[in-house]
Amino acid sequence: MDVSAPFRDPGISRLIVGKIARIAGDLDDHVKIMDFCGTHEWTITHYGIRSLMPNNVELVAGPGCPVCITPGYYVDIAVKLAMEGVRVFTFGDVYRLPGSSKGAPRNLEEARSEGADVKIVYSVADAVKLSSDGKESVFLAVGFETTAPATLGPIYRGAVPDNLSFIVVHRLTPPITKYVLENYPQSPIRGIIAPGHVSAITGAAEWKFVAEDYGIPVVVSGFEPVDVLLSILEILRQVRDGRAELVNEYSRVVRWEGNLRAKEIMRSTCEVVEAGWRGIGFVPESGLRLRKGYSKYDALVRYGIPELSKEAWLEDLPPGCRCAEVTLGMAKPTDCPLFRKVCTPERPYGPCMVSSEGTCLIWAKYGGDELLRGLREEFEPP
Ligand code: SF4
Repeated sequence: MDVSAPFRDPGISRLIVGKIARIAGDLDDHVKIMDFCGTHEWTITHYGIRSLMPNNVELVAGPGCPVCITPGYYVDIAVKLAMEGVRVFTFGDVYRLPGSSKGAPRNLEEARSEGADVKIVYSVADAVKLSSDGKESVFLAVGFETTAPATLGPIYRGAVPDNLSFIVVHRLTPPITKYVLENYPQSPIRGIIAPGHVSAITGAAEWKFVAEDYGIPVVVSGFEPVDVLLSILEILRQVRDGRAELVNEYSRVVRWEGNLRAKEIMRSTCEVVEAGWRGIGFVPESGLRLRKGYSKYDALVRYGIPELSKEAWLEDLPPGCRCAEVTLGMAKPTDCPLFRKVCTPERPYGPCMVSSEGTCLIWAKYGGDELLRGLREEFEPP
């Protein structure tokens, strides 16, 4: 099989794929490797990396899409406020995210079509600037450690006008990784490709617990195909040798200790709390909530809206949607009967079909299993 086409350095890619095949051939059992970042899933699917894996090496996506795991409750709040005349700012990939409410409008796009003032912005700085007109506004802030410092920076600096507040739905990735490893032992993960962007903030050292506490190889990886291939190779080497270590493959960007300034901003403005993950439930120490000293920027406090609680937790995936299993690496998008039938990139039904980091959207656009099958048929005729 020619593995060169999509790769910048075809010689190196071919070499790595050959080594992966040789090491996998030495292993008796199945090795499941989870990526925890939507962009890694994009690289793997877009470049057909699954098609290059030996039969006993399985690559599965984890809960690495912040839009997919944002509870519908927060979308419902944003829609409600928008329909009541509050201007809502958000990022583009949240715009079509369905809430949990059965009634219309079910997302911010529909609210806007009904006349609500919903604005897509590229950064929090844009929302701060536009709010200088004094209109009552909220920002629906979704994302992992990568985006949290950008949301919290203006709050930390006191640069937010009084008429702008935030629905903070920032989530933390090491706690959900721990949760997956502890709660889904029936689906053993033998290696983890740790998120590169997130680690640029948290630091590579944050992932040490995966190797030390769970005995699982973990590699912080970059996003080029060759980065991902090297990370897979490193994990397989460790599995073969019976080792479990943390390796920083993305050292050109990720430092061991991370971005200290960004971490200080998160620590100063927010406390770490147990938080809801869509379709999954409440995960200990996995969310950020604004500290009391910053509560004037908290939209829930400002409008007297209760935080999402375990008691009020509802089944928040649309009926039939298997997003929870997809984000936990227990099912593939193609296992969902709605995939590309009821649920499409043009008309997403479930949350994993909305964002460019959502596994279902990535598979729908770039092939997923179909690409894998197509390549196998082409190169390995029955
Ligand atoms: Fe949910 Fe759509 Fe994915 Fe099915 S295809 S799991 S409905 S997002």
